[in-house]
Amino acid sequence: MKLLENKVALITGGGRGIGRSICESFAENGCNVAFTYNSSKEAAENLVEELKKYDVKVKCYKSDASDHDKSVELIDNVISDFERIDVLVNNAGITKDNLLMRMSPSDFKDVVNINLGSVFNLTKSSIRIFLKQKEGSIINISSIVGVKGNAGQSNYAASKAGIIGFSKSIALELGSRNIRCNVVAPGFIETDMTDSLSDDVLEKWKESIPLKRSGKPNDVGNACVFLASDLSSYITGQVLQVDGGLLT
Ligand code: NAP
Repeated sequence: MKLLENKVALITGGGRGIGRSICESFAENGCNVAFTYNSSKEAAENLVEELKKYDVKVKCYKSDASDHDKSVELIDNVISDFERIDVLVNNAGITKDNLLMRMSPSDFKDVVNINLGSVFNLTKSSIRIFLKQKEGSIINISSIVGVKGNAGQSNYAASKAGIIGFSKSIALELGSRNIRCNVVAPGFIETDMTDSLSDDVLEKWKESIPLKRSGKPNDVGNACVFLASDLSSYITGQVLQVDGGLLT
């Protein structure tokens, strides 16, 4: 029996990067996968085709995770297609980096709305499903920047630290209903988000990582499989850093 056999997961921002890898790791472990995209339609449709080899049900949905009404509609659509949701992974996120001196109010609001607002929207919209099913696992993708802070990323750090406080509160509120809520805080993972960094910056990062390599999207995918599976059924309210030891 595979680790996520017969479960249904909903992953936001699944078409690219870390989200894509979470979808792949879940499907490989027998999970039926519903995932969203916002702008990457072609990549999302390709992923649906690609995951068919795992013999699980897969469907993608266009949905802006920062829009509350769209999130309610999304949950209704997923339930009508899949009948249940066992795991919610809030992965969608953006960066708009700048020093505070140069950061516009809209750059601050956009990042907080998409990164943290989306976690509120999707978690609130799916709670009634988890309560009805009397179980559920919510996994929120934060960042080590949300734990430590980072110069030039005050908007991003605030949104990612907010995710940690939100998740711990949900774990306390809903633990008695068998609904778990954990955070994965990736370190430096190679995706489009980190692609724009210069070779110099990349080398400096790698040098400071105890495991001496950057992370791959599937390093995060594997951590999510654990938190989605029954292997973690006594774990809630935790922040799992997937960072090669960077913050240690
Ligand atoms: P990425 O390659 O830039 O992908 C971002 C994903 O978020 C895309 O699938 C994108 O979908 C989706 N997204 C953005 N805005 C959205 C919206 N309004 N509604 C729905 N989906 C939206 O970034 P990544 O590196 O995979 O990052 C994924 C998550 O991991 C983010 O939360 C990020 O903060 C976090 N993280 C990444 C790193 C890293 O080193 N890469 C480190 C720590 C944390 P579309 O393309 O369809 O718009």
